Amino acid sequence: MKFSQMFMPTTKETPSDATLPSHQYLIRGGFISQSGAGLYDFMPLGKIVLDKIRAVVKEEMDNTGANEMLCSFVTPQSFWDESGRSITMGNELLRFKDRKNAEYVLSPTNEESVVNMVKNRITSYKNLPVNLYHINLKFRDEARPRFGLMRGREFLMKDAYSFHATNEDLVREFNVMEEAYKKVYTRLGLEFRVVDADSGAIGGSGSKEFMVLANSGEDTIVVCPDCDYGANIEAATRAKKEVKKWHELTDGVVKMEKVLTEGMKTIEDVSNFLSTPKAQSIKAVIKKAVYEEFSKIVVFFVRGDDELEETKATNAIDCLELVDASEEEIAAVGLCAGYCGPFNLPEEITFVVDNELENEIGLVCGANEENYHYTGTDLSTLKDVKYFDLIAVQEGDKCTSCGGDLYYTKGIEAGHIFQLGTKYSEAMDAKFLDENGKAQAFIMGCYGIGVSRLVAAVIEQNHDEKGCIWTKETAPFLVDVIVSNAKKEEELEAGIKIYEDLKALGIDTILDDRKKERFGFKMGDFELIGFPYAVVVGKKLQDGIVEIVDRKTLEKEEVDIKRVTEKLYSKIK
Ligand code: ATP
Ligand code: MG
Repeated sequence: MKFSQMFMPTTKETPSDATLPSHQYLIRGGFISQSGAGLYDFMPLGKIVLDKIRAVVKEEMDNTGANEMLCSFVTPQSFWDESGRSITMGNELLRFKDRKNAEYVLSPTNEESVVNMVKNRITSYKNLPVNLYHINLKFRDEARPRFGLMRGREFLMKDAYSFHATNEDLVREFNVMEEAYKKVYTRLGLEFRVVDADSGAIGGSGSKEFMVLANSGEDTIVVCPDCDYGANIEAATRAKKEVKKWHELTDGVVKMEKVLTEGMKTIEDVSNFLSTPKAQSIKAVIKKAVYEEFSKIVVFFVRGDDELEETKATNAIDCLELVDASEEEIAAVGLCAGYCGPFNLPEEITFVVDNELENEIGLVCGANEENYHYTGTDLSTLKDVKYFDLIAVQEGDKCTSCGGDLYYTKGIEAGHIFQLGTKYSEAMDAKFLDENGKAQAFIMGCYGIGVSRLVAAVIEQNHDEKGCIWTKETAPFLVDVIVSNAKKEEELEAGIKIYEDLKALGIDTILDDRKKERFGFKMGDFELIGFPYAVVVGKKLQDGIVEIVDRKTLEKEEVDIKRVTEKLYSKIK
């Protein structure tokens, strides 16, 4: 390919809403063009990168024996009604009507479509397992589309769906997918981590995310320095925190007493006043839980020095989402903000207590009465308590597997694999006959890779202040042959020769043969676009010398023109 023939509108302008390097450089480098909120067109360079990533994903999926297919992008609303996701996915589903007033949805993912495809076509365990995948557009009407390709509304995903007769077979395939995904990210040249994850609205049990490590990542991941434990904070667990027991602190007997704590609404105030560590108290987090057809006030109790993890809390009560409750809403159900505790709660209030508080003795908590707290409580006396893991793991907490000091890092979710179970097959009545001739719902797994998000993730991990630095597998072209002054016949000819020789060696090469652009401008484009290498054909050509520039280090090396292709070949292959 030649610059003179290619549409590559590079620019110095940075869009005002572009805060991430990948967003800025993909626009400035002429890879993508924004057409609307969360909507991007891929210009020629962007399309080449997208296709390269897609090809790696396809190759690794094909290697596992998964079958490529293609679902329609538009799906009937009835699929979503059947699975129940027309409600659970809420406003992310973009719905519309056709001329006959029939309702449709733009695919945000395709569990329903694939169940519909397989239903009544696979009828016996003899035809299982099977794994079907496609690489196709998705549309999610994200509340806050942002960061360019990172969180678009329309985006490209590889999504696979596997069908099994047994749970063991699902686990086997899940592991096959995990290995295939690791190969994909390794080939793309990315530093990544596989972590335990929350399963979100997709449902099911057991899921893992593939996090591309980058400071700009939206996800917080908890990792152990001493073993391979890693988890999204939404799913991270820790070894039970060691805290001093009440009797170790007081030598006294535990007796529940109501104490006046006038005006003290925070853990801090009450702990100072009573001279007890914060860990010896119970924190109440009051929220409004939103369900399909109603909402209600719910209280979560965690240790005084812990924080509530909202995803865990949402899962604990199985609601659609948790929102802040207003003072009026809290008062209306008889709760007393700042003085709320698990004893003597108004009867109809739903509450959940963190696992680590189970049967704890001697803690301080609100007395559900203005200006009063209880001391010396005994949680084992509470009846029918729902205990659940509710807390956000903090840095320094101990690893469950090895006791190491957990720490945080940031990641970009580039893939997510799920052991779904029978959630969709049951909802859509998709069954097969097992060995005993009994009808069973298919056991399913699903596996997603954010193909277009990966274009951005590569740049988040690989850039400098001048622009993109593509990895070998993702670079639109590996070598940019820059003819310093293309009006000079001998320079242009020498450039074309190198370009042809490199292409003959199977190296993707682009020739900057533009006659109207100056050398500095061409070099600027090379740095901004981020091809791994440039060959500069310039003044020293008369001495038979050209220069190789390494984009990553920006180091320059003079080489004999006769050896330049050989030299590049050894760097690249
Ligand atoms: P997130 O938590 O980032 O919203 P998700 O959990 O909704 O992602 P999945 O349903 O697991 O995403 O989709 C599989 C993959 O698709 C994700 O791992 C991610 O790489 C990609 N993806 C999801 N939403 C978007 C989006 N809005 N734009 C680009 N890629 C996306
Ligand atoms: Mg996810």
